[in-house]
Amino acid sequence: MKRAATGFLMILLLFLAQSCATVPHTQRRALILISPGQEAAMGAQAYQEILSQEKLSDNKKWVLMVDKVGRNIARVSDMPDLDWEFKLIESEQKNAFALPGGKVAVYTGIMEIAQNEAGLAAIMGHEIAHAIARHGAERMSQVLLVNMGLSMADVSLQNSEHRDLILAAIGLSANVGVLLPYSRKHESEADNIGTIYMARAGYDPNEAVALWERFAEAEQARAPAFLSTHPPSLERAEALRGIAQRAMAEYNKVQNPYGKGEPLF
Ligand SMILES: [Zn+2]
Repeated sequence: MKRAATGFLMILLLFLAQSCATVPHTQRRALILISPGQEAAMGAQAYQEILSQEKLSDNKKWVLMVDKVGRNIARVSDMPDLDWEFKLIESEQKNAFALPGGKVAVYTGIMEIAQNEAGLAAIMGHEIAHAIARHGAERMSQVLLVNMGLSMADVSLQNSEHRDLILAAIGLSANVGVLLPYSRKHESEADNIGTIYMARAGYDPNEAVALWERFAEAEQARAPAFLSTHPPSLERAEALRGIAQRAMAEYNKVQNPYGKGEPLF
């Protein structure tokens, strides 16, 4: 049994050594056990499932703007050739999401915070960055690893009377110690990369800071859905000031910038 486990570990380590991907811009090495093809297939399927349960917006102006802003950003991103899709869902939720492979959706509720095209570009740049940095695939890989660890522990603890307790503890610490902090890292990475992208697409990156400040105001009134999956907005506005210079340098290279773009209301 011990030898089999050691052999398994060796194979696992070999596999892991070959599965590191580098995140664009931050150059962080990420452990990803899923191929871009598998990831895109899963993303596309989940996207169809979600869209079949939601009502798409019939606000023509906003639908066109979401598509335009999304394409403008995807074009100047590090993966312009993904099978990008940008949909607007009719819902009061102040939220947006990206699925692996370039499937992005925005909820109409967030338009009140976006206020203008550049605000929308900050939100969509963030979501596009999640897809390009392959955060979804990285999360899936972490869950796979935690499960592998759990099943290995399960075998070696078969005769222990504390087995259930020990397994629960491993599962819990893996969740709190690995999965949650990673999601914070993913959020700030998506903020940084997304702001560079919006600037490159010709949207004033100062609007990203203004957007998170508007979010902070909305949070004080009532906690929006975005908060459950995203860190506090004022913190993000502050952190974004840190990359403002790099984003402005990108913005200043654009020949005919949109600035704040069109207002949404
Ligand atoms: Zn996010």
